[in-house]
Amino acid sequence: MDKTDILKQYFGYPAFREGQELLIDSILAGQDVLGIMPTGAGKSICYQVPALLLPGITLVISPLISLMKDQVQSLNQAGIHAAYINSSLSEAQISKALRLAAGGQYKIIYVAPERLETYGFMQFARQVEISMLTVDEAHCISQWGQDFRPSYLKIVQFIKSLEKRPIISAFTATATENVKEDIVCVLGLQSPQVLVTGFDRKNLYFAVESSGKKDNYVINYIREHSGESGIIYCATRKNVDMLWGRLLSEGVAVTKYHAGLDSEERKQNQEDFIYDNSPVMVATNAFGMGIDKSNVRYVIHYNMPQSLENYYQEAGRAGRDGEKAECILLYSAQDVMINRFLLENKEQKGEYTQEEMDAIAGRDEERLRAMTYYCLTTGCLREYILRYFGESGAGACGNCRNCLREYEEIDVTEASVRIIEGIREVRQRYGINVVAGMLAGGDRAKLREYRVSEYASFGSLRGMGEGEIKQIINEMLVEGLLAMTNDKYAILKFTAKAEEVLQGDRQVILRQPKKLPGQGEGSTERKKSKSKARKSDILNSRGLELFEMLRQLRTEIAREENMPPYIIFSDKTLVDMCVKVPLDRGEMLMVSGVGTNKYERYGERFLHVIEEYTGGMHEKLYFGEADEIERM
Ligand code: ADP
Ligand code: ZN
Repeated sequence: MDKTDILKQYFGYPAFREGQELLIDSILAGQDVLGIMPTGAGKSICYQVPALLLPGITLVISPLISLMKDQVQSLNQAGIHAAYINSSLSEAQISKALRLAAGGQYKIIYVAPERLETYGFMQFARQVEISMLTVDEAHCISQWGQDFRPSYLKIVQFIKSLEKRPIISAFTATATENVKEDIVCVLGLQSPQVLVTGFDRKNLYFAVESSGKKDNYVINYIREHSGESGIIYCATRKNVDMLWGRLLSEGVAVTKYHAGLDSEERKQNQEDFIYDNSPVMVATNAFGMGIDKSNVRYVIHYNMPQSLENYYQEAGRAGRDGEKAECILLYSAQDVMINRFLLENKEQKGEYTQEEMDAIAGRDEERLRAMTYYCLTTGCLREYILRYFGESGAGACGNCRNCLREYEEIDVTEASVRIIEGIREVRQRYGINVVAGMLAGGDRAKLREYRVSEYASFGSLRGMGEGEIKQIINEMLVEGLLAMTNDKYAILKFTAKAEEVLQGDRQVILRQPKKLPGQGEGSTERKKSKSKARKSDILNSRGLELFEMLRQLRTEIAREENMPPYIIFSDKTLVDMCVKVPLDRGEMLMVSGVGTNKYERYGERFLHVIEEYTGGMHEKLYFGEADEIERM
């Protein structure tokens, strides 16, 4: 069998995605690889396919127990012998698994990094041929990353202790240069094939909402998306408890997760979510790493996170199946303060010198600022994210709130000049509140304390509200005409670019969203998105009915097998069944995500439902043209 046969037979996919083939070929040629690809890009296939072609065992180091279980279940479903070894197993189970592994029972074995240095595991590793060592979530090895795990450093010693060095493949979704260098360097990758694919997730819609009551927004949203699975992230446990209670009282099937719950409850709640018993999850950022649930249709941030790295990772848990999904951030200015408080009280992992701590604090502050600007920008949100991660965005994406909203443009160049003059006059010593207050001619204790009325700029923008002035200042920050210092005082400075405004060479335009009628709180008016509709949107009413029946069958099987539904078949696969209407084995095997093994297990039951429903006819159950659907 070659790699394409394996992809077809075990995973049920006709072709590799961009990048997968390059990494697989490199591995098969004996080269180390580093794959940096966004969530949902298909990293697992990159090591699972070669693992089946290499002579020995592939060890996969993975940070989380839930992740391992999920992956191993999926592999077993696909007919691939795999196992995991971690602290959720008893000593007896571990010995048994290692014995079977030593006997050649498994091609792929998932292990927690802590396990590597135990005596039993070392013994095992010396007996068998390890062809490849895969490091999943490889950014955990970097002290510069967000999720540094000291236990990841054990991987290095483990590799050194092996008689024969295996091929090393590492995968992560974290793109920053520091982290990438750390992975290559700390893991000791030898002239690796590095692949960085685009970070754009085309199926995700991005929005920032900053008006109205957050609770009401969430409740309305969930109502409009009933039956769909979603995650709502809050900054604090207290917020999680409150929102969870509120949703529960509204009759939402909701569960929650945060570090304050005991481990039994956390585990139970997580399972309820994964098995779709409670499709809505309210959680702190403690939830989600290693959650592979592919049918999460929306991720709402009740509070702004501390960085775009965090945001993109958390929001990215939506739509892993490639179907359309929404990422909505509910912004309020208070979120900035909550985050600053959280950052100041953050526990430092590892030991650092004062200098390093200052550097980290400065970087945290900078990340928070970039995150805040994301909430304030009126430009394309996707473009903003991609540029932050070092990709040149392609301009307006047509699939984010800002691209789809109508704006009116207001020339605020005059006011901008006053603002720059004011900042210059106070010799760049104050933050946004004092500057805006001074320009508006305000009379507050704080302003009197700084004696701002003695400046010529005092009241130079009288007649404008402080809020309005702040909006212009924010726009100037986003455009890089002004900057803030990297500390908690956030003092306003002007940059070299500001000179262009003073010289009259540059206009400052404020874009303000036009209020459309009927755009009330939480109303998520259907966007006229340029991008393709969700696949399930293209099914006609009969198609949707069949989809529902297939989904029920999937739930039934999931219960029987005690397996999350999406591991049986993804939503995408069910939709593809409704489009292709397979009536026999051959046709069923053409459906994306149906491999030989899954066919053997479940194919007939699904065929049966389809045949009953259509009376054995190739009915067309979707709108539009088939080739259009193929390309989606
Ligand atoms: P990642 O680990 O990069 O977040 P996964 O490995 O979980 O992504 O893959 C995301 C989804 O894409 C999974 O449902 C997977 O089965 C699917 N997938 C991966 N490769 C392909 C492919 N070549 N064709 C179709 N679907 C694929
Ligand atoms: Zn956009």
